[in-house]
Amino acid sequence: MAKNNQSVQAIRGMHDILPEQSPRWQYAEKIITEVLSSYCYKEIRLPIVEKTELFKRSIGEVTDIVEKEMYTFDDRNNDSLTLRPEGTAGCLRACLEHGLLYNQVHRLWYYGPMFRHERPQKGRYRQFYQLGLETYGMPGPDIDAEVILLTDRMWNKLGIRDKVKLELNTLGTTAERLVYREKLVNYFKQHLDILDDDSLRRLETNPLRILDSKNKDMQQLIQNAPELMAYLGEDSRKHFELLVQTLDDLGIEYTLNNRLVRGLDYYGKTVFEWVTEDLGAQGTICAGGRYDGLIEQLGGKANYAIGFAMGMERLLLLMEQLDNVPIEQGVDVYMIRVGTEAEKEGMRLAEKLRNEVPGLKLQVNCSGGSYKSQFKKADKSGAEFALILGEDEVSRGEVSVKPLRTDQDQTNMTQNEVIELLL
Ligand code: ATP
Ligand code: MG
Repeated sequence: MAKNNQSVQAIRGMHDILPEQSPRWQYAEKIITEVLSSYCYKEIRLPIVEKTELFKRSIGEVTDIVEKEMYTFDDRNNDSLTLRPEGTAGCLRACLEHGLLYNQVHRLWYYGPMFRHERPQKGRYRQFYQLGLETYGMPGPDIDAEVILLTDRMWNKLGIRDKVKLELNTLGTTAERLVYREKLVNYFKQHLDILDDDSLRRLETNPLRILDSKNKDMQQLIQNAPELMAYLGEDSRKHFELLVQTLDDLGIEYTLNNRLVRGLDYYGKTVFEWVTEDLGAQGTICAGGRYDGLIEQLGGKANYAIGFAMGMERLLLLMEQLDNVPIEQGVDVYMIRVGTEAEKEGMRLAEKLRNEVPGLKLQVNCSGGSYKSQFKKADKSGAEFALILGEDEVSRGEVSVKPLRTDQDQTNMTQNEVIELLL
């Protein structure tokens, strides 16, 4: 057999987060989870793979995701499985399965990779991370407002508030949308010559999505299309008004965008997106809305739900541009050990220091090397101090301490003095 020396590469559109990038990710994750817990949201951890049927039934057969973006395969039992393209369906599936939705209120979040077979480009990947949030059991516009306030707080804490804008719309109830849908289809049918292929297809499957088209030649047509607002009933209208009032009251700015329809079938009433102009075409950082109807659609009793998902890569791209993340130095102290006895004693001392000094980041030089080469590594590590153990130090029961970022001299200390120094 011929030898294959070529290295194996990652799958297109699936990216690595390298060690130099992970501090920024950890920083964002920390801030986000702090905000979530300040609103008393709890984490739920879900499988990455679900039955294909779950996504077909929830996201809808005629959405972009189900039509062309899912990673679907048969497993060894010939069951059709799918790598989750989003988290809402799995989260609801889990809550229904464990009986969490009977007369209960929940505020949940999840975090992890999602998979969609899209054309990879900046801000668009085939494996990407989402932070998702779902609430159940609350029909009022106050929870819609809370969810938006929470996201607003995240942007503030992450230092990107100036870079994002809130867009808001209401989609009414399913019944209201059905009436509107017919009006809309009739309107577009009078202008078939202007519709592009995508829109002609959507005219049958998901006509509201036509409003979302970026095609320049269709903008005038879309501008003049009937508006859903005019078909809303009293309840939907009131719900939206109350939400908007709360946002006004708390000074959250928004743009009403009646073309914001979202790609998924399950949304009704409130929908919103946080968008930025700094990431080119992939400008939506966070998108969500109310999806009361989905719970029955998945076999539960009628209930209420609102949630959102945010794209972590897009968020990170934005934070990278601003370069405002305080990245901590990875190493506080670097331990240099030369000689067999020093290596043994050093390992013992290192464990002792980690016991005694909370939060200490101590890197021990492993696999030997001369003083010179170990000092070089110590310097490169960014550590503030080098602890040096050689034969002399060990025989005297001492440690040499060298400050690496100041001109101070190297000094000899007992182990206890080193602990005092580092505390
Ligand atoms: P888009 O219009 O950009 O395709 P979407 O409507 O498909 O977005 P949602 O399903 O609402 O997106 O997902 C929520 C968020 O997840 C998006 O706003 C975006 O930030 C992020 N996201 C979605 N798809 C991708 C992807 N392929 N790569 C990276 N992030 C993504
Ligand atoms: Mg998409």
